[in-house]
Amino acid sequence: MNKEYICEKCGTEMVPIDKKIPVGLTCPNCGWGWATTYIDPIIEDDTVYSVVLQKENKALKNTLKTVSAIAKCNYIKAKEYIDNAPVELFRGKAIEVKNLKEQLDSANISFVIVPDFPY
Ligand SMILES: [Zn+2]
Repeated sequence: MNKEYICEKCGTEMVPIDKKIPVGLTCPNCGWGWATTYIDPIIEDDTVYSVVLQKENKALKNTLKTVSAIAKCNYIKAKEYIDNAPVELFRGKAIEVKNLKEQLDSANISFVIVPDFPY
């Protein structure tokens, strides 16, 4: 623990509020403390993830609709993606990918996220 972190009220060395998540420090003597706002790790995740459409999808209406929505293209282009899979449909941050993952799952579309998506 860095010695800079001493309690403003009583001078006792402060301890982390939670050992696992660096949310802030608290004084074990008088209870004074400060906490940084807890931020969901998915928001802080700067990894760029790729959503890759897999081969075994059929160009069903629902699949076309979902693929075109995610790749922001028309149905003709969406069918090309399905025919030419594996193909990258989207590249972006975890928070966006999570939303797309739910859409793909609910449409029963086969896909992978690279690198491994932990959410
Ligand atoms: Zn204190």
